[in-house]
Amino acid sequence: MPQIEQSAIEQSSNARILTVNAEILSVGTELLLGQIVDTHAPVMARILAECGIGCTRRSTIGDNWDRLVGALQESLSRADVVVTIGGLGPTQDDLTRDAIAAALGDEMEHVAEYEQELRDLFASRGFRWTESIARQADKPKCARFVDNPHGTAPGLICQKAGKVVVALPGPKGEFDPMAKGPVRTFFEGLGGGVIHSRTLRIIGMGESHVEDLVRDLMEGENPTVAPYAHTGEVHLRVTARAQTREEAEALIEPVHQQIRSVLGDHLFGTDETTLEQSVVDLLKSQGSLVGVAESMTGGGLAARLTAVPGSSEVFRGGVVTYQLAAKVSLLGVGEATLKEHGPVSEAVAREMAEGARRVLGVDYALSITGNAGPTSDVDGKPVGLVFVGCAGPDGVEVQEQRFRGVREDIQRRASQTALSMLRTQLAAAAQKG
Ligand code: ATP
Ligand code: MG
Repeated sequence: MPQIEQSAIEQSSNARILTVNAEILSVGTELLLGQIVDTHAPVMARILAECGIGCTRRSTIGDNWDRLVGALQESLSRADVVVTIGGLGPTQDDLTRDAIAAALGDEMEHVAEYEQELRDLFASRGFRWTESIARQADKPKCARFVDNPHGTAPGLICQKAGKVVVALPGPKGEFDPMAKGPVRTFFEGLGGGVIHSRTLRIIGMGESHVEDLVRDLMEGENPTVAPYAHTGEVHLRVTARAQTREEAEALIEPVHQQIRSVLGDHLFGTDETTLEQSVVDLLKSQGSLVGVAESMTGGGLAARLTAVPGSSEVFRGGVVTYQLAAKVSLLGVGEATLKEHGPVSEAVAREMAEGARRVLGVDYALSITGNAGPTSDVDGKPVGLVFVGCAGPDGVEVQEQRFRGVREDIQRRASQTALSMLRTQLAAAAQKG
């Protein structure tokens, strides 16, 4: 089993778990120019976490000898493990192999048997041989090759002076199988256990407010708790390091319960549970139907509900009433109301919700009217002003909001508010029994 030398490893507070840190170096000028997107580094970061290896930095470096060797040396000065992605091919700009040797102070050697394999392969396929292809049979002396059944450049696992450098090829068809196969197996053997996270999703509370309430828990080391702001919701990521995933879950669970007791109903789901999913679940458990009346979201709210599998049980349908005439003819909004208050108003949101509840014959109806910008609309209301209505068995509630951001942000926040209001009403109904 491959082992990092003890000197490179620091013992964590949990004595059974070794703390191994890694950095990822993505190599390629086209990444720096923005011509391709680095999709491999996040894949590698997840694999490292699943193997209990903490990824402490990710960098991107061009196909330049001095900068590449420099970056490798810097990473090696900080981390136990350095993973490079790309630059293993046969061409002049593929520098990774030699740069790793230079950074580790190692010599290059040529593996004649592998060159012969390559020559045989090219001959059998009738491909033209050029001398540069033989470079792929070079490796730092301390390295071993990792098989690349989908390409010609093997990967490398180099171990020297307590440090590990793992090099993977760039093409996706070669990177993916190597990263998820032999490289992952190698990382599992480094004895790091697992790093496992659970994401708790929170609605109706800002990031700082959430942080204030869970400050004590954020001081813990295992698990760690960290807040992230998303459009219209806050996520708390609870991350534990343990020998197995089950042990990590067992460390996370009590912290999850503590957070639940502090945040109550604001916590609407974990991991992949979306707000619309949690709303659909509540509607199902109560046997209630919902419908929507939308103006400035143009069907976006309905789209979010229909994105939830099985929502046909609880979502009856919706209307998009963009122009005034549609609000009047389809929802029965009063012409006088429109004239007196304008389409972006509390009164219109209220009549839209009531109208939708009546027309669609549902228990709950949501309405959205607002000005998503970028310019102020006809009735001169400011950009970002949104009224969201929620009509239910106990009457209609309307919230006035002033959102900031571009058009899509404002639309997203409007549908987020609508779902959140419905969720609150459903939670209240559940409590009443
Ligand atoms: P080759 O043998 O094809 O030269 P290589 O190992 O030298 O492979 P690169 O030349 O760096 O790899 O990249 C080859 C291709 O792989 C790129 O054009 C790109 O399509 C893809 N690629 C490289 N790095 C990444 C990355 N980090 N994320 C996504 N795709 C990448
Ligand atoms: Mg290349």
